[in-house]
Amino acid sequence: MEKIKMTTPLVEMDGDEMTRIIWQMVKDELLTPYIDLSTEYYDLSLKNRDDSDDQITIEAAKANMKYGVSVKCATITSNKDRMKEYNLKHLTKSPNGTIRSMLDGTVFRAPILVKGIRPVVRNWMKPITIARHAYGDVYKNTEMRIEGPGKAEIIFTAADGTETRQTVFDFKGPGVFMGMYNLDASIESFARACFSYALSVKQDLWFGAKDTISKTYDGEFKNIFARIYEEEFKDLFKEAGITYFYTLIDDIVARLMKTDGGFVLALKNYDGDVQSDMLSSAFGSLAMMTSVLVSPHGYFEYEAAHGTVQRHYYKHLKGEQTSTNSVATIFAWTGALRKRGELDGNTALVDFAGKLEQAVIATVESGKMTGDLARITELPNVEVMTTEGFIKAIRATLDTMM
Ligand code: NAP
Ligand code: MG
Repeated sequence: MEKIKMTTPLVEMDGDEMTRIIWQMVKDELLTPYIDLSTEYYDLSLKNRDDSDDQITIEAAKANMKYGVSVKCATITSNKDRMKEYNLKHLTKSPNGTIRSMLDGTVFRAPILVKGIRPVVRNWMKPITIARHAYGDVYKNTEMRIEGPGKAEIIFTAADGTETRQTVFDFKGPGVFMGMYNLDASIESFARACFSYALSVKQDLWFGAKDTISKTYDGEFKNIFARIYEEEFKDLFKEAGITYFYTLIDDIVARLMKTDGGFVLALKNYDGDVQSDMLSSAFGSLAMMTSVLVSPHGYFEYEAAHGTVQRHYYKHLKGEQTSTNSVATIFAWTGALRKRGELDGNTALVDFAGKLEQAVIATVESGKMTGDLARITELPNVEVMTTEGFIKAIRATLDTMM
């Protein structure tokens, strides 16, 4: 069989620990035998980020902006322990944070569904994708403990010195209060990312907030989404046969339990934090979640939703067998290859991405899976595979499909 050619390189960001081991295995077993893989390679391993004063992360993000599509391996975010362990010069920032702020993106996470690993909510037949706004609100709040009677106020001092003040509460006794903020520009880019993503996967978009109670703050989120939809996306949504609708966050949660899935759910920062943990645990496992950063400028960065699986890596270093799940890493590659193929009109690449995903799902559904899934599956006759054995089993399935 002739290998599939690529016309534009993918930006490849390598990472750390167990996921770095998996990364190489996936390339060797599942990609390069079938594709003339063209990538622009950036080594974002912790030591290399440290040696380059984190320039390598910035260069990788710039390459993502140049070519449009990247695939990223999980990376260590340094802390004091890691500084000692890797003998680092400095504490570098989280690479995901650096890349996210350069691409100005929103992260979308969706579960990978397989038969035999059923969501706790039985009627969820199709994936539900969460889009979480990752700026401001309670994560950047200023809060105060009040020890006794007094008046709590919020004051805005305009650039020209004019003050606007409002009483929050006349305290008769001890209590607490806080202030928080968001920016129109951030909400607008969040809205555009959600509308663009829903269009790219051809799924309905739901957005929920609490504008009946928070008329100004949440009201602004609702208004910005409505305006951007009217001005920029209404016709595109109609053409794609999908819909946008806004409802209250509590109504969203109630509806969520009764749907069969298959839509994108946009949520404010805190709601997204809570609901994404609920969804990922209800759907099964972090190793069965896809994650993509979508920038309003049209850049895409695909990754796994989990970390570097440190505990398994130390076992691997000791020469012990591991059973680490590579599904999310493989889907990061297939997501990136499919998007690259779509942008380049390369149908062979798009088809390959689909086949590889089918091979992964068929392998798990045949009972061959890693330990994390074996613990939660309802399938009989499960064969617990090693990290490498699982990837080889996927290759065997893929070969029957090619
Ligand atoms: P983690 O790597 O996600 O692992 C947490 C635990 O979840 C593992 O110990 C393992 O449980 C299970 N797990 C996660 N992925 C798995 C997989 N693919 N297959 C099987 N089991 C899996 O999180 P962490 O241990 O908190 O963090 C490790 C490092 O990753 C940290 O240095 C952190 O900075 C980094 N991190 C990076 C990213 C990113 O780059 N996107 C995200 C999160 C964390 P058992 O040990 O019970 O088997
Ligand atoms: Mg959380």
